[in-house]
Amino acid sequence: MAKKPPVTRRKLSAVARAEVGQIRECDRCGESKEVTNKTYSTLVKGLRGWHTTCRVCQGVERAEKRAFASERLAADFIPESIDDTDDMINEMYLLAETQRNPARTDELATLLRERVTTLHKDGEDLESFRLFVRCIRPMVAGWKTPGAIHDDIIDGLISTHRRRLIIATRYSAKSTITSMYVAWRIMLDPLLKVMVVSKGAKLAARMLRTVRRVYFANCPLLHHLEPTEDCLDNAEQFQTPQSLSVVTGGATLSCFGVTSDLPGYRSDLTIGDDVEGPKDDTPEKVGDLIETLNELHMINPTGEKIMLGTYQSEFSTYAQLADKVDDEGTPVWEHHRACMFEEDPEGKGIRSRWPEMFSDKDGVDWRRSVTARGWRLHAMLICDPSILNEKPLKISDFLLVRHDPKALQFPVSVGRSGVKADQVSTWGAPKGDVWYHGTPSERLTDYVQTIAAVDPASGLAGRDAIGVAVLSVLPSGLGVVRHLEGVRGPDKDTNMKRVAAIMKEYGASHLVVEETVEGFFGATLENHLIMLGYPMTVEKVTSGGQKKGVRIIEALAPPMGAGRLVMLESVAESDHGGDFVNQLVKVSYDGRTGKAKDHDDIVDALAHAVAKVKGSLISDRSELMADFEASRLEPLRFVPLRQGGLGGSDHGPRNPHGGIGSHGIPLPGIGPEDSMSMGELLIEEDIVLTKMIARRDALQHVVRDDITHGRQVDQDMVCRIKAMGVPIKGRQENQCL
Ligand SMILES: [Zn+2]
Repeated sequence: MAKKPPVTRRKLSAVARAEVGQIRECDRCGESKEVTNKTYSTLVKGLRGWHTTCRVCQGVERAEKRAFASERLAADFIPESIDDTDDMINEMYLLAETQRNPARTDELATLLRERVTTLHKDGEDLESFRLFVRCIRPMVAGWKTPGAIHDDIIDGLISTHRRRLIIATRYSAKSTITSMYVAWRIMLDPLLKVMVVSKGAKLAARMLRTVRRVYFANCPLLHHLEPTEDCLDNAEQFQTPQSLSVVTGGATLSCFGVTSDLPGYRSDLTIGDDVEGPKDDTPEKVGDLIETLNELHMINPTGEKIMLGTYQSEFSTYAQLADKVDDEGTPVWEHHRACMFEEDPEGKGIRSRWPEMFSDKDGVDWRRSVTARGWRLHAMLICDPSILNEKPLKISDFLLVRHDPKALQFPVSVGRSGVKADQVSTWGAPKGDVWYHGTPSERLTDYVQTIAAVDPASGLAGRDAIGVAVLSVLPSGLGVVRHLEGVRGPDKDTNMKRVAAIMKEYGASHLVVEETVEGFFGATLENHLIMLGYPMTVEKVTSGGQKKGVRIIEALAPPMGAGRLVMLESVAESDHGGDFVNQLVKVSYDGRTGKAKDHDDIVDALAHAVAKVKGSLISDRSELMADFEASRLEPLRFVPLRQGGLGGSDHGPRNPHGGIGSHGIPLPGIGPEDSMSMGELLIEEDIVLTKMIARRDALQHVVRDDITHGRQVDQDMVCRIKAMGVPIKGRQENQCL
């Protein structure tokens, strides 16, 4: 295996860290992806610390320019040489790059091409495609050894069934494999007409570029298929020279967005590559999409069809295709599933099926950050609409703690005890769902942030309440529900005053109000806060068109399930707590079950508060604890080294968020962006400490030597040793590496 360069794991800047998990649309392919190291790369000059072009597009671009060809070493593309094939592939590319001995290049290309074709003719399609992938992968920037997930995708692609449906987890590189599959099919039959339809025109254009400008332009196996001057060759379509000789000519490969005007085109093989987007999440939108796909079907009613995609919702188009049966009850589509992770049926472990890309821990992290529904749908690829009626929020997932809600400090950590709190009312919770005591640690710490969230009443009915939730966050990543209230009173003014009073009472540091930009609830509340002498700005949030039930569950379920939400006993026992429980246990994915008069104002407010700090409530606890410990060194940050501090030389702007990032993650040692991170400082500090100890030991050795040999001891030296003792001791105590 080729040696990989060591991976540098740099701490992300505060801005870049806050951006992780946000949805970003790639400026090239138009795909919306969550920002992570796997989807975008970090870039200081980029938008909030990240590239605006996704990694896949960057790879395609580099491959097109052959920019990476010169970076490539021979060793890079011979991972496991089991026969002479890799040597041949290697030699072919080296010759092609240097353009020496074109005859030999052709000879090698023809040999390899014949091997691929012969395997196909012998009915060994899997071997044939595998060999083709080996020949073509040096063209792919950032190629990673495929995993078990790709066997599933390839099985679906090369199957001989006329209709194949392949559901794969996101980020499975299915588009790259599909582009290779398209090139393989065209190589085997240059007269074949292939049409690829994606959800967006940009995505479709990328598919065409990959096949045309990367593979056909650069791979000697495919050179004879490159369009000549007489051929159709544009951003949407191209033609092989071979197809010119036949009457039925036309484009060899056409790539379109699903909304393009398609009549008039024809194809032998139609591929739907991700036609369903994240926005297709309601039965209505999916209905529209299915209609579009039916039109597409008419282009190639009897030909071969492949649909590749990932479930976006329980109403997914793909699920409906999978359920389709013909008159005899036989499924129309052959269904293939390609999961990125598998759950160990024995223990609770999660295994990656593409270890080169995602570790097992990535799977565990993902599992922890989503709801059971999200995990089943997006990871396990199980599309079961019945889950939409489930009510997954349970009071037993809270950690119940007896503590003064007005106190400014709280135990650093709270564990699960498994001890039922029988004395506290369970209100409207179903039988068996009870409160459980948490086990708080002895050490107390300050809250780092207090979020108040307000769900203004819809105003339709006089009895509607204004939902208010106050949530404080601990540096250890624990959220404490300090207050819940459905504010209802004789008139609007009184209600507003009460809401403002709650903000002041609990010293809220952030205020979130569910309201559209045009709404005036927030502005009115701001005025009341000024009158109270507690001015603060309102941050407006909107549901973003997401279903209410889904939004509430997706905000609350992961931190509740992870044991990161603490409910104070006094809150649970109050009447408002009762209202809250009654609302909580009724929330289902499919919006409010039951009747329209069911309220969810308090639960909704808590969901908004939790969503605001979700990042810190689900992230790795040990990381947060380490950050918390490191933050205790913060006072030493700018104290010079010789005085026992950490010697940060720059006093740059301090963290405007008061020690907390926009994601609610505590950020020790904030300075200007180019100053050293806390981690770097600590490493430097460690080196300094080691040097100081070495120097002191050397001085001590001299003194001891003098004493042993009866020489006069240098008093100055003794003083220096003594003086060094204090900072060394201090630093050893604070050492955390
Ligand atoms: Zn992209």
